[in-house]
Amino acid sequence: MPELEAVIGLEVHAQLRTDSKLFCACSTGFGCEPNTHVCPVCTGMPGVLPVLNKKAVEFAVKMALAVDCDVNHTSVFARKNYFYPDLPKGYQISQFELPLAEHGRVAIEVDGTAKVVGITRIHMEDDAGKSIHSPTENVSFVDLNRTGVPLIEIVSEPDMRTPDEAAAYLKALHGILLYLDICDGNMEQGNFRCDANVSLRPKGQKEFGTRTELKNMNSFRNVQKALAFEIRRQRELIEDGEDVVQETRLFDADQGITLSMRGKEEAHDYRYFPDPDLVPLVLSEEWVEGLKRDLPELPQAKRDRFARDYGLSGYACEVLTADLALAEYFEAAVRAYDAPRDIANWMMTELLRELNQAGISANKSPFSPEHLAKLAQIVDQGLISNTVGKKVFPELFAKGVDPEVFVREKGFAQISDAGALEAAVDEVLAENPAEVQAFKHGKKKLMGFFVGRVMKKTQGQANPKLVNEFLGKKLK
Ligand code: ADP
Ligand code: MG
Ligand code: ZN
Repeated sequence: MPELEAVIGLEVHAQLRTDSKLFCACSTGFGCEPNTHVCPVCTGMPGVLPVLNKKAVEFAVKMALAVDCDVNHTSVFARKNYFYPDLPKGYQISQFELPLAEHGRVAIEVDGTAKVVGITRIHMEDDAGKSIHSPTENVSFVDLNRTGVPLIEIVSEPDMRTPDEAAAYLKALHGILLYLDICDGNMEQGNFRCDANVSLRPKGQKEFGTRTELKNMNSFRNVQKALAFEIRRQRELIEDGEDVVQETRLFDADQGITLSMRGKEEAHDYRYFPDPDLVPLVLSEEWVEGLKRDLPELPQAKRDRFARDYGLSGYACEVLTADLALAEYFEAAVRAYDAPRDIANWMMTELLRELNQAGISANKSPFSPEHLAKLAQIVDQGLISNTVGKKVFPELFAKGVDPEVFVREKGFAQISDAGALEAAVDEVLAENPAEVQAFKHGKKKLMGFFVGRVMKKTQGQANPKLVNEFLGKKLK
């Protein structure tokens, strides 16, 4: 039996965070009273006309440009016809034959190996409503607030070979969407969703095997788990001489397995046709170029720049750019005190832990970048030790105070005051006459003992360098 390799292609749906829906003025607000954000247009009443939301087009084009797609200057909205209770129009407005953009690419890296995943197309469409099934009674409800919210669908080439690559690709797309500030990217709330297509083929074979399409994964982790399960399931079928059936399967997160939802025979025939209520979407070269010029720095470019300009490790660049707010926090701190590696260390250990515990993003941190810079600085200057810094960090973070003011007020500052230190050294020597004698007769190892006693007397806050100097002088 030849070795089998997996082939994976992903379809990602991202909700665009416009204020209003794709073809009407209804709000896109999430978590509101059901059926309050509805109007005749998004509920498909007869005799109404859709009007395209320009902001949604702008967001979609930005994403297309960010992943190096060719933006089509003419694209066409089509009706995708099917019946479902959460689809009052009886069709979804999508793009079929002429999508907004095509032929893009995204760079990913897994275990140090870089790879490019091709993007087949990006098109715009409107979202469906939500069916809510009562857990207690035999009844279902429909909430149409989501109906008509703008989406982009990003279809990848079948370029991925492992669940890890699929997760890396998803995270890369997710990061770009958040950097562009065009999607909330919350998988649990469903504003960033992924369907995963997977098949197996003998390694070295060109033709693809029969694929299944996996749905219902609401986290990166679950996409990986669903794919790993499905690869195992298909491998067992093939090894037993059976056929993989082309079908849609649902991931069951509780059991960690995929279950058949519908086969190819039940697949829809959507009868796509151009929507007669909408004119083709025509974009001027100039407008698209303007959006391209105004694209912000994207995650990959920022990672490269952090490595180059700040001399950070690949891992640190990865962590600090994973979230735009964290990256901006870092740069603000470095502007306040030019010690990028120390600042990166404080952030990746202490700050991230506190942010995670508090469940907040770096831009909501009570402890500001300037505070963190100050902390790095006073450790450098010897006002406190690294250990003391770590010890007081949770309190500094929670109170959002200037570390220098805090350690001075609380008496955590190292004692560098010569008078106070000399007094402590004198006391220690007076309290331990036998050791002083022994030291003077050659037992030089006792130096450590004296330093220890002085540190103890000062609650660990004596400046060790000064203590050593005093002891050296007095024990001559
Ligand atoms: P559909 O729209 O019916 O789901 P598409 O041809 O648009 O079908 O493909 C959807 C996704 O499936 C794409 O991401 C594509 O890369 C992927 N794909 C297509 N064929 C295969 C295959 N044999 N194995 C794995 N993925 C595939
Ligand atoms: Mg599909
Ligand atoms: Zn509406």
